Amino acid sequence: MIFDKVDLVVRNAGQLLTLRSGGPKVGKDLADLGIIEGGATAAKDGKICWVGLSQDAGFSSQRVLDACGKVVMPGFVDPHTHLVFAGSREDEFEQRLKGVSYREIAEGGGGIRSTVRATRKASREELFDLAKRRLDVMLSWGTTTAEAKSGYGLNYTDELKLLEVIRSLSGQHTVDLVPTFLGAHEVPDEYREEREAYIDLLTDELIPEVAKRGLARFCDVFCEEGVFDPVESRTILWRGQEFGLKAKIHADELSPSGGAEVAGEVGAISAAHLNYPSERGLATMRDARTVAVLLPGASLFLKENDLPPVRRMVELGLPVALATDFNPGSSPVYGMPVVLSLSCLLFGLTPAEAVSAATLNAAYAIDLGERVGSIEVGKDADLLILNVESYKEIPYWFGHNPVELVIKRGEIIKTSARTENRE
Ligand SMILES: [Zn+2]
Repeated sequence: MIFDKVDLVVRNAGQLLTLRSGGPKVGKDLADLGIIEGGATAAKDGKICWVGLSQDAGFSSQRVLDACGKVVMPGFVDPHTHLVFAGSREDEFEQRLKGVSYREIAEGGGGIRSTVRATRKASREELFDLAKRRLDVMLSWGTTTAEAKSGYGLNYTDELKLLEVIRSLSGQHTVDLVPTFLGAHEVPDEYREEREAYIDLLTDELIPEVAKRGLARFCDVFCEEGVFDPVESRTILWRGQEFGLKAKIHADELSPSGGAEVAGEVGAISAAHLNYPSERGLATMRDARTVAVLLPGASLFLKENDLPPVRRMVELGLPVALATDFNPGSSPVYGMPVVLSLSCLLFGLTPAEAVSAATLNAAYAIDLGERVGSIEVGKDADLLILNVESYKEIPYWFGHNPVELVIKRGEIIKTSARTENRE
């Protein structure tokens, strides 16, 4: 045996979803989960060191977990969250239910700007505690890696404050956080009459400082009518790239804004929402290998009439990923399993496609496709044991949390009585 001693063995998976692939899953491959029935896997030094059949897993190990015929899969990757903020917006939720639109609320000073006011007032410690509690919940739903954006500070001090909170939280929490600078989330109140000065603040002061201090890996823009137009979006994203921040974009969410074209033109790593992308925009994205990040939580929560052309994206060979878009205004949902259900019901993904989109493709959406998102030798041993026997049950038991046990880099994080832990 190559590894006579390993740290952890998980055996007797009814379905081991390996997601093995040479890159992001596209086209027909999106539905291929690389399932091994009766599968097993082993971890050493936090990495997966072996994948195969249970009967061949004859390792000596301190820990052997019996999955008892259940589903074993990679930890979920959530590639789009607005994790760090203060306050909540349930009053706006009620207003919207009474017929006021999201845009009307935003124009009246609510929406993102109301969260900005609350977030600016909050201390680092308060923001850290709030975000930590949210991340604990996400972990319990099986998220082992997540992206987290700034974007509720919208000035020099508070944007840096949010990124510092993300950094310290990532250092202390089980879930790895990948930070994104989203100073271009909205134009703050004090710059409403001089938006160019705000863009200068982003490009001349914040982006260089964020990059110098290594506070973000990505730079993101909300490209939308009334927020940042395509010309402004390109300027900001190019500037980020100059400083080593890879581009991400919120594109074509509320109206056709040319965002998909911008994504492709700047070679963005991902573009999110995409309710109204042009055909040309989608082709540009495909050529640039931009991942389309789909956010069905926002589509449901905003009761959006127009949904992204998801089947067309898959046919075109675009890699599609799923994310919560966790935020207080348009998608206060923590759990990726709920997002999988919504993606099937609203966007017509099959359960298998949804699993690929929420694991391996989600990892590629944050440039971590070579490290997490599948059960393959050399990758981080981030694993879930679910209390279901078929992956199809993940979206089927709508609103149910199927996660029984989480393993992060080979360490058992949360156990329940139903999985045996044998010495
Ligand atoms: Zn977002």
